[in-house]
Amino acid sequence: MGLIECKYHKRAGIIFVCVHVRQDIINRKKSEQIIKIVFPDNREIESKFRYDKVLHYCFDCVNKYNFPSQNTKLADKDFNQFYDNTLFPPACCKCFTELNS
Ligand SMILES: [Zn+2]
Ligand SMILES: [Zn+2]
Repeated sequence: MGLIECKYHKRAGIIFVCVHVRQDIINRKKSEQIIKIVFPDNREIESKFRYDKVLHYCFDCVNKYNFPSQNTKLADKDFNQFYDNTLFPPACCKCFTELNS
């Protein structure tokens, strides 16, 4: 799991969110609705080393990119089909949790 330099939390873990959810984080506001796709890490390694990939996005992205409209679980191999680093910029996982939980 990568780290990000956050002005509120210093070094924090990365979370992948759509540009719209990221904008909400920058504006310090809770996102209206967040949908997530989880790509479970099924590697045959000790569970503490496993790291599920998760993408979070909003309804705009559902309409725009035909993403699933509800929380979904997909195979790890499908991750690259969805992930695009311009569409899912990394954000601070602590900011995300603070604002959206
Ligand atoms: Zn979005
Ligand atoms: Zn933060």
